Amino acid sequence: MDSSRPPVPAEIKRQLRQESAFGCAKCGYPIFDYHHIIPWAIEEHFRPEDMVILCPNHHREADLMPEVEQRTYKTNPYNVAHGYVEGQLKITQKELAIKAGPIEFVSEGNLICVNDEPIITLSANLKGTLNVSLRLFDENDTLCLLIEDNEWIYGDIKVWDIQFKHNKLSILKKSRNIAIVIDASAKFVSLKGTFWRNKKKIVITDSEFLIYDTLMNVDPVGGFKDICLVSLLINLMMNDKGLFEIKPAKSGVDGGFVSDPDKEIRLQKGIDFLVDLKKRNA
Ligand SMILES: [Zn+2]
Repeated sequence: MDSSRPPVPAEIKRQLRQESAFGCAKCGYPIFDYHHIIPWAIEEHFRPEDMVILCPNHHREADLMPEVEQRTYKTNPYNVAHGYVEGQLKITQKELAIKAGPIEFVSEGNLICVNDEPIITLSANLKGTLNVSLRLFDENDTLCLLIEDNEWIYGDIKVWDIQFKHNKLSILKKSRNIAIVIDASAKFVSLKGTFWRNKKKIVITDSEFLIYDTLMNVDPVGGFKDICLVSLLINLMMNDKGLFEIKPAKSGVDGGFVSDPDKEIRLQKGIDFLVDLKKRNA
């Protein structure tokens, strides 16, 4: 993070995101930040006509890219040229449903917290695309990646590998000990990954949600089966016992559970419940 430079004003950010249809102007990736075509070092400005959004891969390249090439992407952004006018990482239905190992959520907002601090936050925006926020720490408990609503705020792109294909976003540390994979191609957005907090390793696979060191299996459905959490989050408590709790995802809104052996019906029940919750709390 360059603390000497003031942040890009929100209004300018909005304009640049819309202009490039919510993706990197060169490749359309839904994770991006704000690039100065006229470099800040040459002139301190926030002129939208001299700025563009680029994914971290292309932001890194842009310093070596001729200005005329940068302007080509700005005037003909990838997502606009390819018909993704509302951006990519599109969810396939009205409400966001997520599967993280054995845990199903119909929710929006903070999903996984550690000691009440959000680590993974997913929400559907008004365009029906996914907003991703990540706050990732390395094995020494040092913050190594910060993404807020798809904006790459902090993270050394030299050590990260970002891929986006077929509505699936992968953010992998090249050392391979941290990874987040968000696959929005099915009704349940699948969240998998390996990440750390308080020097403990947390792993989410297709079927498991584990905290190593404590060898705890985070499976709130335990003896119950076929349950979906609605407007609830998982808060991992990194103490010696490695407990976890299920809490409302939004303060003041009581979430709940729905259950059905049929996955489709369970999903529909979860969505209906969330819609109802939103109405009651509107
Ligand atoms: Zn790009």
